[in-house]
Amino acid sequence: MKKVSVTERRQIENEMIFRRANEVVGDKLDEIDALHIEYGHPMLVRSDDILLQFKCECSDENCEARIPIKLSIYQKIHQNRDAFIVMLKHQVNKIEKVILTEDEYSVVEKNNSTAEPGDTLNKTSIDNS
Ligand SMILES: [Zn+2]
Repeated sequence: MKKVSVTERRQIENEMIFRRANEVVGDKLDEIDALHIEYGHPMLVRSDDILLQFKCECSDENCEARIPIKLSIYQKIHQNRDAFIVMLKHQVNKIEKVILTEDEYSVVEKNNSTAEPGDTLNKTSIDNS
């Protein structure tokens, strides 16, 4: 695999961290829905198509942009583990290429498919408890 500079590595890691944070949001909603069914409140289960404000998954660690995407679409895009959802023009051409552009966001894919280094991922500030 081609050598990745420290800056590029950091940019790629930021994107993975942001995506992880978004996935936690999606997982939590699925969990809550499962609880509604378990407790006999199926009418409280959300439809998959609620619009959520997902965090921009670009490489800028200070980016505060939110992207409105329906949960079902978000999850579908991320079935591709190399895909990241970013605001329009937030892609960094050096490390990724745009594979899809919608009105509100672009989907980018890493140039050299950098495998997610599982356990070595930087710690995030997400409270999982
Ligand atoms: Zn961004």
